[in-house]
Amino acid sequence: MGQLDGFLKYDRELPDSRPPENRVGDFKEIYQPFPEEKTKKQAARCMDCGIPFCHSGCPLGNIIPEFNDAVYQEDWEEAASILHSTNNFPEFTGRICPAPCEASCVLGINKPPVAIEHIEKTIAEKAFELGYIKPKPPKNRTGKKVAVIGSGPAGLAAADQLNKAGHWVTVFERENRIGGLLRYGIPDFKLEKPIIDRRLDIMNEEGVIFKMNAEVGKNINPEGLKNDFDSIVICTGSTKARDLNIPGRDLEGVHFAMDFLSRQNKEVAGDNIQDPISAKDKNVVVIGGGDTGSDCIGTSHRQGAKSVLQLELMPKPPKERGEKDPWPLWPMTLRTSSSHEEGGERKWSILTKTFQGEEGKLTHIELVDIEWVEKDGRKEMKEIEGSSRLVPCELALLAIGFVSPEQSLLKSFGVNATKTGLVKADKYKTNQEEIFTAGDARRGQSLVVWAIMEGREAARSVDKFLTNKSILPAKKKSV
Ligand code: FAD
Repeated sequence: MGQLDGFLKYDRELPDSRPPENRVGDFKEIYQPFPEEKTKKQAARCMDCGIPFCHSGCPLGNIIPEFNDAVYQEDWEEAASILHSTNNFPEFTGRICPAPCEASCVLGINKPPVAIEHIEKTIAEKAFELGYIKPKPPKNRTGKKVAVIGSGPAGLAAADQLNKAGHWVTVFERENRIGGLLRYGIPDFKLEKPIIDRRLDIMNEEGVIFKMNAEVGKNINPEGLKNDFDSIVICTGSTKARDLNIPGRDLEGVHFAMDFLSRQNKEVAGDNIQDPISAKDKNVVVIGGGDTGSDCIGTSHRQGAKSVLQLELMPKPPKERGEKDPWPLWPMTLRTSSSHEEGGERKWSILTKTFQGEEGKLTHIELVDIEWVEKDGRKEMKEIEGSSRLVPCELALLAIGFVSPEQSLLKSFGVNATKTGLVKADKYKTNQEEIFTAGDARRGQSLVVWAIMEGREAARSVDKFLTNKSILPAKKKSV
């Protein structure tokens, strides 16, 4: 370790974001440049722990102290090589990961943790800038062909790994562009799309074939895929949105969050949207408090909403980790996103009772306060009498989670599903010998970092299936 006392000398520091009033005028990334010298100091804060809990905090098992040291030594090539040994796409996770590694950083016990996510992003950007990330097609080809269905982070990671192992990989994507939720879920102000294109160009030059507007089960015949490919990896995400079937659900103005977000992302990409959903001059109510809800808030602000209210059924979490909360578990503290800095109101313990409207159009939403009471050892929701009220609302966005992948595709392949409709698999292998799965389709709605991890692990299973062994690295066991 180049500097052993960095954590005593330097405080945690992150790049400034553009002022909220300025950034809501566009969809560009919100962070401002950060001097390299400062990133070096942030890397020097790493204590190089004997047992680095950050490794196990990161689903990918990123080798964090080692890349921090390389950054401190200004050896960007080494840093990039260490980072890419466990993570195919650090330029994505360095921007949008909630960074469970930071929640496990030992320094975090009594000081703010090492700024691992920012360091990761900087390494990725330096590596692109200095030309260390360039097409490296595999030296040998196995002659085996693999079809990956779905081009989100799980599909892309699986495709990248399988191509590295020498198999011919074709990615089928039903949308008009590649990227899954990275492309059409996550807004540009969190992840600008040229960042995805840059990586896709490399993968393409390395030999991965991308087929867009190719929906397996519609215009691509599943039986044909089975005949043409030696193995198939289902990475279709968990895209069936959870609904809120209460009176007034069918009023004009009540939408799934993804219908709203994907239209905006397509518009930023230059597509002509035939049936736009706009927040302009509207009172917007976002139902749901997760990442999807936050992205709806940021998008509504940028579209010029009159007001934005976000509702959460659960009680408000504490701001700080309680004394009894053990470390290094993920602290169940209040999570905010950059969108919350931009305005709007956020309320907890609220139940949405009805959508109300006139002439088929949403005008109000009926809300009631709830309290969570203990009953037979379980928390139960109880409405607070007299708290019901109507709130003006012309656009309601449902961001209450996702249920499962589309079942028709699984049926057409004869692939079993779990009780909740996810792809049933023994690790990553389905009941069909040559069909594997990874990402949200298998584990349910999750995070980009988990999707990449699953894509890598599934690729290893496919490689073993095709060649009886695998040259791809396995994820290291956690402490
Ligand atoms: P997806 O990204 O969902 O990709 C699946 C792809 O499969 C899609 O492109 C779909 O069109 C395609 N597909 C489906 N069926 C077919 C078919 N039959 N034929 C061809 N293609 C098909 N995670 C984070 O870590 N950080 C965040 O900030 C974050 N923000 C989020 C914001 C939103 C709005 C949402 C919805 C999720 C967010 N997530 C975030 C979660 C993260 O995006 C997902 O966990 C991750 O993208 C899952 O990856 P995946 O590859 O499994 O599936």
